[in-house]
Amino acid sequence: MADPDMSSQSGGYDVELFIETPDYDLICTICQGVLRCPVRAACHHIFCKKCILQWLKRCRQQTCPCCRKPVNQSLIFAMFKLSKAIGRLKIKIRGCPDTLALSEQYCHSMSCLFELIPCPYQGCRAQLLRRDLDAHARHCEHWSQPCHMGCGTVLSHRTQAQHNCYRQLRHEYEARQRNHRAIAAALQRKMRRMQSTMAHMKRQIGLICESLEVMDELEEEEEEDLGETSGSGSFSSSNSSP
Ligand SMILES: [Zn+2]
Ligand SMILES: [Zn+2]
Ligand SMILES: [Zn+2]
Ligand SMILES: [Zn+2]
Ligand SMILES: [Zn+2]
Repeated sequence: MADPDMSSQSGGYDVELFIETPDYDLICTICQGVLRCPVRAACHHIFCKKCILQWLKRCRQQTCPCCRKPVNQSLIFAMFKLSKAIGRLKIKIRGCPDTLALSEQYCHSMSCLFELIPCPYQGCRAQLLRRDLDAHARHCEHWSQPCHMGCGTVLSHRTQAQHNCYRQLRHEYEARQRNHRAIAAALQRKMRRMQSTMAHMKRQIGLICESLEVMDELEEEEEEDLGETSGSGSFSSSNSSP
């Protein structure tokens, strides 16, 4: 009756999840799973909400997949009581010895000791049961934690044994001092280079000034020479006039 292609994308609960095989009435005709968020169409057929909405979106005639009567999307009603009854059905999660109600599944999965979870320490690829996490953390080579004395050092199992807050802080202090000394030495070298450049520039300026003075003197001498010759010329010309 139902399009087999629909089942892969739609929403019912896997029948295998339930301890007792659920009633036929609780099965969604579209996905063949146990009804999730059940809704009733005007023809009284019941489906998962997601399943019927997807069905109506995909088929042009907007008809019920069971009886082919027209289905109006605005006349679909949520069945809260049925939803609650389904929530009370007992389920069994693979690997977990507990039985629980379907409605408890989400909360339980957050803390289930038998759920397979990845090791939370960065870089570790181990997958383990939540129950075994503490035991694993005791020897996980990616385990790391800040020193509980508050010295700020992040410790691994390898470094934790020989860690000593005082020695560590002393170590860091010395490293910082070495670093500062290196910076000071570099600055001093830079300053010396600048000083020698400045001295060189001073010498150059001195030389330029000296050569300018020499040129001034030469010019002055030249002007004096010119003044003398032109002066004597005018004198002689005025002298020659009657
Ligand atoms: Zn369904
Ligand atoms: Zn119908
Ligand atoms: Zn569990
Ligand atoms: Zn690990
Ligand atoms: Zn420490």
